[in-house]
Order: sequence, then C-alpha cells, then structure tokens
Amino acid sequence: MKTYNEEKLRERAGELLPEVVELRRKFHRNPELGMEEYETAREVARYLRDAGLEVQTGVGGTGVVGVLRGSESGRTIALRADMDALSIEEDTGAEYASEIPGKMHACGHDAHTANLMGTARLLSEVTEGGKLLRGNVKFLFQPAEEGPGGAEPMIEDGALESPDVDAVLGLHVNSERETGTILLKEGVLTAATDSAVIDVIGSGGHGAHPQSAVDSVVVAAHVVTALQTVVSREIAPTDSAVVTVGKITGGFRNNVIAPSVQMEATIRSLDPELRTSLRDAVERVVAGVTQSMRADYALEYNFGYPSIHNDEGMTDLVGEVAGQLLGEDAVVYASQPSMGGEDFSYFASEVPGCFFRLGVRDEEKELGVYPAHNPKFDLDESAMEYGMVVMAAAALIYLGKTEDE
Ligand SMILES: [Zn+2]
Ligand SMILES: [Zn+2]
Repeated sequence: MKTYNEEKLRERAGELLPEVVELRRKFHRNPELGMEEYETAREVARYLRDAGLEVQTGVGGTGVVGVLRGSESGRTIALRADMDALSIEEDTGAEYASEIPGKMHACGHDAHTANLMGTARLLSEVTEGGKLLRGNVKFLFQPAEEGPGGAEPMIEDGALESPDVDAVLGLHVNSERETGTILLKEGVLTAATDSAVIDVIGSGGHGAHPQSAVDSVVVAAHVVTALQTVVSREIAPTDSAVVTVGKITGGFRNNVIAPSVQMEATIRSLDPELRTSLRDAVERVVAGVTQSMRADYALEYNFGYPSIHNDEGMTDLVGEVAGQLLGEDAVVYASQPSMGGEDFSYFASEVPGCFFRLGVRDEEKELGVYPAHNPKFDLDESAMEYGMVVMAAAALIYLGKTEDE
C-alpha cells in the first residue's frame, strides 16, 4: 500500500524536528487563551506562506487555514491542530516555561500546532510545492478547543469548502503512551460534553428562624445528592454517563439563611439518545426536589461538543501507516472511549475522520509523566517527528499519488 517515499519522508521529518521543537517552545513561552491566539496565528500564517501554501487567516475567529494544492485534481484531506492554551499557572521549571502569568500550554496544543506546521512544510517539500501531488491537503489551525470551541465557527466560516474537504485527521498528545507509539480507536472515541447552571432559589432570613425562610443551602444539598441517582438508577449499568456538580456557591455567613445557591455541572454521555434524555432527567430532578422543599429553580442547560466518531476506513488507514512507519507494536488499539471531550468532533461529523493519540511519555527524560491540565505537564518533543511522518504519510496515501517512486 506504500505510495510515498518512506526514506525521504523520515529523513526530512528528522531534519525538520529541531525547527519544530523551537516553534513549540516559542508557543509554550507565549501561551494564548481561546480566541486570543493572535500571535500564534500570525506565526502559523507566516510559516505556511513561507512553505509555499495558500493561507487564509481570521477563519472562525483566530483560525488559520493553509492549502497545499496539488497539480493534479483529486480529493482533499484536512489535517487539524488546535492552538489555545489554558488559564493555569505553570510549574514545570522548564527553560521554555510560560512567560505569561496564569496562562500555560498544559494540554499540548503548542505541540499540536508546531507538529502540524512541520507536517505542512514536510508535505510541501516532498511534493515539490504540490507539483507531485494529486488532490489537496488542507491544514486547519483552530482556536479555542478548550472552550467555547473553534471547530464549529471555522466550519461555519467555510473551512471545509473550496477546495471541499473529503476526510480529516487530527491528533492529541498523550502522556499515558510512550514516545514512538500511537493509540487508536474506531467508532465512538470521546463523550458529548454538556453543562448546566442550576440556580436554587429559596428565600433568605435569620439563621435562628428557619420557618420564616426557604433554606436554599439545604435544598441544594438534596439536589446534588438526588442528581447522583440519574446515572446510578436511571441509566443501564452497561451504558456510560457522568453527572458531576463541580461548583457550588451561595450564602453570606453562619447566621444568615442563604436566599439562593448556584451550581455548575458537567454532564457527559456517549450515546446521542441518552444525551437528550439526560437533559430531561436533570431538569426533572432539579424541579422535583426544589418544589418538594418550597424552593424554586432556574436551569440553563448547554449542549456542548458532540462525541467524536472515528471512521473505520480512516482509522484503518492511520493504523496501517503508523504500523509501517513506527512498527506494528507501536500501534495500540483502545477498547474503551474516553469521557473527555474534543471539538474535533465537529469536523469528523462533516466528513469521515480519525482522531488519534500520539505518545509523548519518556520516563527517563522525566517528560510526559504528568497528565494534561496539570501545572507540571510537559511532553517529549521528539514525538513530533512521529506525529509529522504519520500525518504526512496518511495524507499522501489517502490522496493516492506517489511523489517520486
Ligand atoms: Zn485540554
Ligand atoms: Zn487538548
């Protein structure tokens, strides 16, 4: 199935790695939060133009789209990276640690961005700027994956059109896997991530005279407890869902009955039908419990990212390519989906897609040993070489044209 020059691809990826590491470190030092990725986007656009790509900026906010156009017409494959950082204070002590207080690339999106920039240059070089390419490769650099989401606004802004995209690939670094490995799963990969803001509305009063008030703190405590029965008692034990109340605020002081309490919850599921029924269940429980205790409520329920559904054909493609390049043992198949969320799902619900995980753990180097979103999170940068070759080779095989074999 090999339709690319493996030796050349590997060699160039190895040569490009130092440059890609520098890019990653630059982004790491200067993290930008969702929809504020101005400098990152500028850097991406400059680099892509330099690599001979057509570039469009300001797509769906701060998104950047690059196109490597082939000389022969054919299909178009999109490769996607996310660019945003998190509001976390970095504690890695790395030489390239964040220079911006309270902001950090703690999810590896700096590496995703640098990796995809390198992949763009790599593909441009091995196809002589598209001369040896059939079809097109589109590079999607999206904002705000950590929220509120950049994939959907990019699609609305035409990122998957002209040339129309036929398939999409994306990757996420993974600190549970060794460098040089990838983790794959066909079908449902991530959860739908919905959220709720629940106001329990009581009536304030003196802490000594509860009979003349409606204590929203007590009602809220019952609501939190009762919500636990949605997953434990209403959903089949073989199905998956999560209801987590992650934040609760209310009240003034010890002798004052709180007039209201506000709660925030995340609600996650894997099945679209279950997803809708969860919304109804949450509201029914909140309504029932508050009403039974003389309180009122307000519920704001937001449907967030849908689940990623990995296409079978695209997953097989990535698996075969990675098996060839990294060795059969380097490709691990996950049996279970994750209850985490990813807005790559919007791209993958428009066209067949595969989102895979790239191992970045190296215990000897003490890199990739902390989980994502940890203030000490860091990764083994040499993994980007594998990210680049797998992405590039998968794109070339998908488009089905050898370059110079
Ligand atoms: Zn994250
Ligand atoms: Zn992430």
